[in-house]
Amino acid sequence: MAEALQPVRGTRDLIGEEQRRHAYVVDTARRVAALYGLEEWATPIFEETRVFARTLGDTSDVVTKEMYTFDDRGGDSITLRPENTAGVCRALISNGLTQSLPQRVFYAGPMFRYERPQKGRYRQFHQIGAELIGPSEPLADAEVIALGWHILNALGVAGSTVLELNTLGDTASRDAYRAALVAYFSAHRGALSDDSRTRLQHNPLRILDSKDAGDRRLVADAPTINGALTAEASGFYDAVRRCLERFRVPFRENPRIVRGLDYYNHTAFEFVTERLGAQGTVMGGGRYDGLVQQMGGPAIPAVGWAAGVERLAMLLETPPAPPAPVALVPAGPAEEGAALAAMQALRAAGVPAEMAYRGNLKRRLERANRIGARAAVIIGADELARGVAQVKDLGTGEQAEVPIADLAARLA
Ligand code: ATP
Ligand code: MG
Repeated sequence: MAEALQPVRGTRDLIGEEQRRHAYVVDTARRVAALYGLEEWATPIFEETRVFARTLGDTSDVVTKEMYTFDDRGGDSITLRPENTAGVCRALISNGLTQSLPQRVFYAGPMFRYERPQKGRYRQFHQIGAELIGPSEPLADAEVIALGWHILNALGVAGSTVLELNTLGDTASRDAYRAALVAYFSAHRGALSDDSRTRLQHNPLRILDSKDAGDRRLVADAPTINGALTAEASGFYDAVRRCLERFRVPFRENPRIVRGLDYYNHTAFEFVTERLGAQGTVMGGGRYDGLVQQMGGPAIPAVGWAAGVERLAMLLETPPAPPAPVALVPAGPAEEGAALAAMQALRAAGVPAEMAYRGNLKRRLERANRIGARAAVIIGADELARGVAQVKDLGTGEQAEVPIADLAARLA
């Protein structure tokens, strides 16, 4: 072949340590989510385009620049999911679950965005996520954040992240804030990026989320929502903070957190780190009371978050250890049968075990060391006659004679 095949730009193969890190993040999150009563949903990785186009907001970066959209062979417009909240809400409606509330949902899987690939930013990446669908109480906002914090702690990365918290208020607060932002940014129109001049027309809040350096300087002095909050909205925000304190989740208020998608209200938050450069947001979420109704379902409040698995995997201090099986080492063909039986007994007892398909005793021992086996179970003619094996600890080099029948108990 002229040129070696490569994965598509922005996609990666997960092999070896990278896959172990990845799996550890997902397994840990899944286990902790179960402690909070969440059940895992798996929805399709592609949906009808309107599932995303209608809900993420016509002016969001995701919809305007990042979606993988194509017509399938039947002529239907399909989009590879760029995120999974819309898919979960679609599934809630499609499966007739809007009367069975609350639904406490965990998910994990690949997402697709056409972005400029860089460290911590890919075109196929993976998210874990949590959605509490049904509760309107601020306690739910705090609980879903506490779940995120619990997962970061279980992964040992909480210490390098900070929870940044904000409120986007209710509709009335948001309308008042939008007016204040329009007044402010219009006065500085000339200094805005082209993208943000468009945002100023369609969705001025989005300017707060801009990554353009010039925009960011203007944003630093922009009015915050605090001045625009209704009494009800600030009461809700107070309650979220009180509940977070009860959950013992530390946070820092940041009035600039708005989140990239259009459907959020009240609580908005991000867990950020300084250890990943520009790709510093590891988890983000908030309340999205309008989304289910916007998708054609009843008015159902909800709150949730999504986290980037690749970014969390990079933060792990110590990568999960590779498997260290027990290696069966028969001295020759005559002992292979006994070794096979012993290997299956070990596996049946839950002890990872393996055996090379060929090779003499020396070769097999070398291989056992090379693959990082923790012990070698050596069975020679003399051992076989006596129903025993030599168990060699490949870490310490110590060797002991063990009855074959006792191997599983000794090595468990
Ligand atoms: P960013 O500001 O980094 O673009 P975002 O606001 O677009 O993030 P969300 O839509 O909130 O991200 O997705 C939640 C999380 O998913 C992010 O905090 C991040 O950890 C991860 N994520 C988002 N896009 C990517 C990507 N292209 N590659 C890897 N991880 C991503
Ligand atoms: Mg983005």
